[in-house]
Amino acid sequence: RYFRWCLVCWECEVDSVPLSPSDVIEMQKICTSFGKHQVHANLDLSVKRGEIFALIGDSGSGKSTLLREMMLLHKPDSGSIRVLDIDLNSATEQQIKELHQRWGVMFQYGGLFGTLTIRANVGLPLREHTNLVDELINQIADWKIKISGLQEDAALQFPDQLSGGMLKRASMARALAMDPILLFLDEPTAGLDPSGADGIDKLIKDVQAMYQATIVMVTHDLDLLWQIADRVAVLGEGKVVGVGTMLELSTMTHPIIRSYFDGARG
Ligand code: ADP
Ligand code: MG
Repeated sequence: RYFRWCLVCWECEVDSVPLSPSDVIEMQKICTSFGKHQVHANLDLSVKRGEIFALIGDSGSGKSTLLREMMLLHKPDSGSIRVLDIDLNSATEQQIKELHQRWGVMFQYGGLFGTLTIRANVGLPLREHTNLVDELINQIADWKIKISGLQEDAALQFPDQLSGGMLKRASMARALAMDPILLFLDEPTAGLDPSGADGIDKLIKDVQAMYQATIVMVTHDLDLLWQIADRVAVLGEGKVVGVGTMLELSTMTHPIIRSYFDGARG
């Protein structure tokens, strides 16, 4: 049984959700094509509760599409997907609404609205999914901004006033607005210099610990993988060609996996 704290009083338990003991995401026999181009060919993948799970693979190997399929933003041609024990093929509107309340998303380019302050951006999911009064929404937003490692005064700034690293943090703050139990991160360190990326490593790890959240991320950042990923799936040839810890992957022989360890990539 999973519970989380009520957003209003922070004391009572709400939302008891029966979860399978381990798998938070289970994808079976996924086939996805765009025209004649087959991107996923009978792909299987599962993500366990509480892990930081990473997807890597060549550009065009179908990582982003797979992430979009988990988030109901794209429907595969065939195959089954269960997320938080809900079958996406037969989910009711109510279940889809619940899913959107339980996951948070950090898009590659931040996805923040330029005309809104950071506080208003972070508060948006709360405005959409709860009946909380503005004052409380602002308080929660400011708290998420703080735990995402931004200074207090960032709350009243607009996205174009923030640096790349700060934007990632603001985007994380918004992803955390609804106390997610599942987080999707698309290229969380892309476009950051190594020192900026460093802070984001720690932030993701902290968020996992703080929320006991399951995190699924797409990344090219090998340092990030070695530092925080519990398991990594390598996509290629329409499938997962290998999955395991970085150490386990480093001993596998598939040529696509080898290319990550034999210096063929930066
Ligand atoms: P990755 O994220 O691993 O680079 P993507 O999932 O973005 O790969 O894309 C996989 C393949 O599917 C690419 O060849 C891409 O061009 C194609 N593709 C993705 N989305 C679309 C789309 N909406 N329409 C047509 N082709 C697409
Ligand atoms: Mg992509």
